[in-house]
Amino acid sequence: MARKFTEEKLVIASHNKGKVSELAEMMKPYHVKVISATKLNLDEPEENGITFIENAVIKAVAAVKASGMPALADDSGLAVHALDGKPGIHTARWAGADKNFPMAMKLVEDKLKGKKDRTAHFVCAIALAWPDGHVETFEGKVYGEMTWPMTGDKGFGFDPVFIPKGHTITFGEMNPKIKHEISHRAQAINMLVKACF
Ligand code: IMP
Repeated sequence: MARKFTEEKLVIASHNKGKVSELAEMMKPYHVKVISATKLNLDEPEENGITFIENAVIKAVAAVKASGMPALADDSGLAVHALDGKPGIHTARWAGADKNFPMAMKLVEDKLKGKKDRTAHFVCAIALAWPDGHVETFEGKVYGEMTWPMTGDKGFGFDPVFIPKGHTITFGEMNPKIKHEISHRAQAINMLVKACF
């Protein structure tokens, strides 16, 4: 059985504003004080795992070690089926050091030229780590289709080019409330909450 979370404070082990605000919003009902890695000035560890779960654990454990508090990390990315699951765990890297997501979305568009299959899914691995070394992990996915041109200015990352299955608009156009009900991150957080809160 998963360990219950009874602490008052939780570090969100990310410097990605989009992710931090989505995770903080999703944790709101559970009355835990969330603090971002940016606020604590924590270093970003090298993400050298080969799965989303491994990278989430690396980030959560590094934040616990640096802060002495329990930490929640998210490792996520986009898997485009016609590109054999790329960019996958390297999604953030496709945007380069300056986090140029329009360029990364253009790169995916170029690689898909001439390919009929536009299906893809987002993956979100969540790791919750405690100072005594205990870690719980969860993984959520949302399936959909890639679309261009980029549409919508809500959300972050690849949201403007992804239409979730059963919908007709991109995550970038969607009311964040709806995205937070169906996204890969929402699904992983729902599993975490069910198990640990
Ligand atoms: P990492 O988990 O920090 O390695 O970065 C994951 C990358 O995947 C982000 O920088 C985004 O480009 C992309 N990504 C993850 N989740 C989402 C999402 O909910 N919407 C759009 N892009 C996402």
